[in-house]
Amino acid sequence: MRRKLAAGNWKMNGDSALLAELGTLANSQGDSAPQIIICPPAPLLTRAVDITKDSAIGIGGQDCHPNTSGAHTGDVAAPMIHDTGARSVIVGHSERRSAHQENDAVVRAKTKAAWAADLTAILCIGESEEERIGPDTLAIIAAQLDASTPNGATGDNTVIAYEPIWAIGTGRVPTLEQIIETHDMIRAELTKRFGDEGDKIRILYGGSVKPGNAAEIFQAENVDGALVGGASLKAEDFQPIIDALAAS
Ligand code: PEP
Repeated sequence: MRRKLAAGNWKMNGDSALLAELGTLANSQGDSAPQIIICPPAPLLTRAVDITKDSAIGIGGQDCHPNTSGAHTGDVAAPMIHDTGARSVIVGHSERRSAHQENDAVVRAKTKAAWAADLTAILCIGESEEERIGPDTLAIIAAQLDASTPNGATGDNTVIAYEPIWAIGTGRVPTLEQIIETHDMIRAELTKRFGDEGDKIRILYGGSVKPGNAAEIFQAENVDGALVGGASLKAEDFQPIIDALAAS
């Protein structure tokens, strides 16, 4: 049985006021809450870990460098993220892939770096709008999954986030049928490659998840939760998504 997961990606947002709101969110989770991970910007990691300790909320980074240290100005190494007390990290987000030219090989290397630092990699994949309209959508996503995921993925060290690029921050979401079809394909690919472990790897949906559409998306058998951007920035939006996941 896979534990449900609600992950929030704050992107380049967050300050002391948002950390205070995170504290309120942490204090209001009941025992039956799904796993919750919040990924604030790197400068806020240590304080976020402190504010959420002894709560149902874990903290993750938004990106890590493939190397453990060195001359990489502005980058953050996976062991540094672990050292803050965070236990997971997003890799391969489409904003990193497009704005920082990160291809599948880079994402694969970052995933390995995350594992080596004892971080769970929340590995993002997803198609462009053009690829969604075209005839090879599922094959393109499968190839991206295969090339971005290193050998050795397990239910503990990896979470896959399926995020159609055209749905991120746009208010548009795929149909439930498209989500089901894509997540079922990802599950099949994971079990084909990783056997029983592939069945333990959680698959999140990401892209304009809101309080109003979360319950419908969580109906899908192979949707194990969500990676949420905009709606993770306000407790009043994120809490109903957590509740819908708990009820699914
Ligand atoms: C994201 O950035 O991972 C994301 C899913 O953003 P949003 O929920 O705002 O579409």
